Amino acid sequence: MSFYVYETQTIPNESARTCIKCGWGMDEGFLHEPSGSTYCSVACLDNDISLAQQEEMTLDDLFWTDWHNEVEVAE
Ligand SMILES: [Zn+2]
Repeated sequence: MSFYVYETQTIPNESARTCIKCGWGMDEGFLHEPSGSTYCSVACLDNDISLAQQEEMTLDDLFWTDWHNEVEVAE
C-alpha cells in the first residue's frame, strides 16, 4: 500500500506522528487519509469519528498503518 506523507506539522519528538486527540507520539496508528488525521488508539479514533461515520469509510479512507520508514523523509 502506498500513500503520500504528511509533513505539514512540526514533530516535537522522535515519533513519526502525533495523535491529534491526545497528543501521544507514535510510530504507528490509525490514519484518516482524506483529512490526514492520526489516532493512537480506537478510543481516540472513536472519540473523533463516530462509529456510524467509520461504517461509511473504506480501508482507503481509514486504516492502521506505521510510519517507521518515513521518519527520515524530509518532504
Ligand atoms: Zn490518542
